[in-house]
Amino acid sequence: MPTFSSRVEKVSISGIREVFEAAGEDAINLGLGQPDFPTPEHAREAAVDAIRAGDADAYTSNKGTESLREAIADKHARDNGLDIDPEDIIATAGGSEALHIALEAHVDAGQEVIIPDPGFVSYEALTHLTGGTPRPVTLRDDLTLDPAAVEAALTDDTAAFVVNSPANPTGAVQSTEDMREFARIADEHDVLCISDEVYEYQIFDGEHRSPAEFASSDNVAIVNACSKAYSMTGWRLGWITASTDRIERMLRVHQYGQACASAPAQYAAEAALNGPQDVVEEMRTSFEERRDILLEGLSEMGLECPRPEGAFYAMPKVPEGWVDEVIERGVVVVPGSAFGDGGEGYARISYATDIDTIEQALDIMAEATEAVR
Ligand code: PLP
Repeated sequence: MPTFSSRVEKVSISGIREVFEAAGEDAINLGLGQPDFPTPEHAREAAVDAIRAGDADAYTSNKGTESLREAIADKHARDNGLDIDPEDIIATAGGSEALHIALEAHVDAGQEVIIPDPGFVSYEALTHLTGGTPRPVTLRDDLTLDPAAVEAALTDDTAAFVVNSPANPTGAVQSTEDMREFARIADEHDVLCISDEVYEYQIFDGEHRSPAEFASSDNVAIVNACSKAYSMTGWRLGWITASTDRIERMLRVHQYGQACASAPAQYAAEAALNGPQDVVEEMRTSFEERRDILLEGLSEMGLECPRPEGAFYAMPKVPEGWVDEVIERGVVVVPGSAFGDGGEGYARISYATDIDTIEQALDIMAEATEAVR
């Protein structure tokens, strides 16, 4: 009999996967967490060129190539007004690895990590893998994370709290005032704020602000990635930026777990970050149009849905049995409970698919709503 670590036994395969597997092959999939656009051609070309030239054959520096880290620092200067030393950046295998090394480097067994509930599935799982304990904080009615609730959840054992805006699974965007508060909490309580900003560019109302803009301490780490920004989920390229000593500790985890991010992906990411940004705007306007169609359809069926201001997810409140009924009728959505107890009674609907498909799905959802009422 194999034996397993108690840490891994606390984690199960994501509920999202189970939903996909339960649905038939012909199902309309509104469960996906990735943009339905191609990776920009210039990013693909840069990787191909690097491969052909033999530039991507070898390990890069553990942190990633200097030119990629410069491109990431330029991005933060351009978009976030942050002055980041390229040495304080680690290129990672997607935002996922960035979250992993952040938690692994900062959380001890027995310590706590405050996470939004409902929230992205990795926060809870990765915390368990460190031996730490996730401390879920229920969201406000508008599905944003309340800084006061985070502050109230702090204990002497808190190692970090996670902020995610725009958010998966809710589509919620935190206000500038909230971000200021998260920075204050990180400063005043000397606690790490991990700010997951992977949906930064998918924002329709309001604007993206990072707690790092407001913090006066070194207590904010930013996680970001090319995955959602440039429709590059398959490339596995993200990054983390934090203070020099935090980066040095995270590099220890990254070095032994990964050595470096995939070299071809680093070339593609650099081209995406430095190249024309029109693809970002194209995706943003397209998602906004789809969001409006989805919200109108949900409202016509009488489903209450906090208005998602970003990402590409909506999270309506749904009657009991609704998710099963919708899946049975051939539309894949994810039960809110897959994202934490706070997601109970909600469903996550991804609108990263074309308008015809969304409209077809809405018809089916309307029938399912009638059936379960
Ligand atoms: N953070 C959030 C909020 C996400 O939704 C995801 C992916 O769905 C990630 C991080 C990880 O992204 P990546 O594909 O870059 O690992």
